[in-house]
Amino acid sequence: MVAIIGAGPVGNHAAAQLCKRGFTVDVYEEHAVIGKPVQCTGITTFFLNNLMKPKDEFVVNRISRTKVFAPDGSSVEIALPKNYIVDRTKFDAYLAAVAQSEGANYHSHHRFIRSEKRDNNYRLYFANGKEVVTDHLIGADGPLSAVAKSNGMFGQRKFIIGHQARVKIPCEEDLVEFFIDEGYFGWSVPENSKIARLGICSLDKAQHYFDKLYQMRKGKILEWQSGIIPLYDPNVVTEKDSVYLVGDAATQVKASTLGGIIPGMMAAEELARALAEGKSYERLWRKRIGFALWTHLMIHKIMLQRFKEKDYNKLVRLVRQPRITTLISTRDREFPSLLLAKMALLEPRFLQFIRFLF
Ligand SMILES: Cc1cc2nc3c(=O)[nH]c(=O)nc-3n(C[C@H](O)[C@H](O)[C@H](O)COP(=O)(O)OP(=O)(O)OC[C@H]3O[C@@H](n4cnc5c(N)ncnc54)[C@H](O)[C@@H]3O)c2cc1C
Repeated sequence: MVAIIGAGPVGNHAAAQLCKRGFTVDVYEEHAVIGKPVQCTGITTFFLNNLMKPKDEFVVNRISRTKVFAPDGSSVEIALPKNYIVDRTKFDAYLAAVAQSEGANYHSHHRFIRSEKRDNNYRLYFANGKEVVTDHLIGADGPLSAVAKSNGMFGQRKFIIGHQARVKIPCEEDLVEFFIDEGYFGWSVPENSKIARLGICSLDKAQHYFDKLYQMRKGKILEWQSGIIPLYDPNVVTEKDSVYLVGDAATQVKASTLGGIIPGMMAAEELARALAEGKSYERLWRKRIGFALWTHLMIHKIMLQRFKEKDYNKLVRLVRQPRITTLISTRDREFPSLLLAKMALLEPRFLQFIRFLF
């Protein structure tokens, strides 16, 4: 028996994968409705096609261009391999329905509190008074994972604030705008030509940076969708006896773009494989995405933590060269190391930014 805590995209994908491999799976979710509240922009790269078929029932928009703005107002436009903008409530519900069709049992209103290890299994305690015994316990319960805390696996993880609103504002339907500046990274992601998801991420002063972005893209705020995002921590232990962490609970987020949906789903697949084949989950997911997540972390450290305004301006100037934009437009950003190497070969001046790592 497998108990999964959390019915987010990663918990749901893990549930479907485990059911397919013959496990009996129960998913416990604290909220009444899967996918609510929304705390996400919902961009996924074209790589989503490798994990599932993007369906019109949850894809609200498709993006084929991005424009990146430097602090001095200069910008660079780049064609993209298609990116999908998903409605997170519908996306999460769709993945849960897939898992249910594979045989997973869902339990809403079940907030996991703690677990106790017995000889060969775990007793789980929920806020509603229910107690459950399971052989395997999976924490897919997001950045503040109670499963991680209860099992001494939380580590020294750090968080970024994601402050976002849905805003009524005229926008170009197939264009994502990014704003890179000292202290924050902002975005305007269109749902359609009238509504955009406008947000920033930063280590602090989130409202201040959001206001700065809002001055540039002012509209009518319809809804706030803010949350916290774990910074990838290579030292977090994700497997301990029969307890496993996956997705945000395991900090498996691309620290440069703060996308956690796709890496989390990839790790969920490795978890199902590990349990089915009796292999080490820790080893499998690190082999598949560990180096990519580490590379994103280095980009984050250089850009969000060290860059000054003049460095962002310089970066945009260098990227504006057609040979660089053409290169970027052909690559997926899930696995950035090859792209970075090719960029440095084409334009060695990119290497000057490596000094910020030291
Ligand atoms: C503002 C913002 C914008 C973002 N934009 C993007 C983006 O564009 N693209 C992208 O890929 N990622 C984005 N992310 C990150 C993305 O939201 C996460 O990486 C992704 O949701 C991780 O999925 P998950 O299933 O691991 O965790 P979650 O989606 O957090 O799901 C965890 C689930 O566990 C449940 N839960 C939590 N605690 C308990 C408990 N104790 N008991 C029972 N259930 C519990 C929660 O209710 C939730 O349903 C963004 C995040 C923020 C904050």
